[in-house]
Amino acid sequence: MSFRYVCRCCGMKIGEIDQSMATEVSLGLDSLTPEERQHIISREHGGDTVVRVLCDYCKEALDQNPELSLIGTPIQ
Ligand SMILES: [Zn+2]
Repeated sequence: MSFRYVCRCCGMKIGEIDQSMATEVSLGLDSLTPEERQHIISREHGGDTVVRVLCDYCKEALDQNPELSLIGTPIQ
């Protein structure tokens, strides 16, 4: 089981952390509001936790074109 970071825009896998090496607290996920958690964190059937963030590429694109964030729907 692991925490898997994927880009919420393009779906690219950004990184993976073994769950035995990290906790929600150490990753700062416990400070999210329930609403943010719903949007950002999801659990997969295998027990993995998927965390939706922005990859560097999309982050840069969003910085330059803030209106793109309206299109940033989760991919699933
Ligand atoms: Zn991306």
